[in-house]
Amino acid sequence: MNWQNERQKLVDTMQKLDRLGMVSGSSGNASVRLPAAGTKKKLFLVTPAGVSYDTLTIDQIVLVDEEMSPIGRDAGIPSSEALLHKAVYDSRRDVDAIIHTHSVYASVQAVKAEAIPPIIDEMVVYIGGTIEVSEYGFPGTVELAEKSVEALGDRRAAIIRNHGMFAVADSLKEALRVAELVERIAKIYVNAKTSGTIVPVPDHAVEAEREMYLKRTGLKLA
Ligand SMILES: [Zn+2]
Repeated sequence: MNWQNERQKLVDTMQKLDRLGMVSGSSGNASVRLPAAGTKKKLFLVTPAGVSYDTLTIDQIVLVDEEMSPIGRDAGIPSSEALLHKAVYDSRRDVDAIIHTHSVYASVQAVKAEAIPPIIDEMVVYIGGTIEVSEYGFPGTVELAEKSVEALGDRRAAIIRNHGMFAVADSLKEALRVAELVERIAKIYVNAKTSGTIVPVPDHAVEAEREMYLKRTGLKLA
């Protein structure tokens, strides 16, 4: 099986992120968990390392196993952040797609190492609450992967300190929606903070919205 549709969706997603200015050159990456299809093997598709997204083709998308090792000859080299993807898939059975970007406003928060509290209603419903910032981890390492998973918790996005952000969901389409939402919220937060006091979403609303989030994602109450 060649997973042409899934490959095409990854290419389309990266090119959309490129057009939105959320990734540039070859920075950022994405992956999907493939359906088991009667085999016990766990397979994933990951964007390749060092390929510019404006020229990315479906043949360059890398098929990998659960250790993120490429499968087949001429499979290519998976993204240097593949370990981040592996750590998320290992810890979250509900996640089937991951997008990682170096988008500007999320990166401002990454540089300030400042979490974004619930400031917009839809943030809690679609992301699950506060967008936390991970502790520092060197790019491409297990350390970065572990700290990122810690910051993610049971939510659908987190900021990676001094680096960028990542969004997760049960489909690539939904992960893209979450990634765009994170960047929009970060932009609102950065702008609101420079111009005045921020009024957060009231606690009772956060509680109700968090229940909506858990219902949407099928996650159990922590
Ligand atoms: Zn990165």
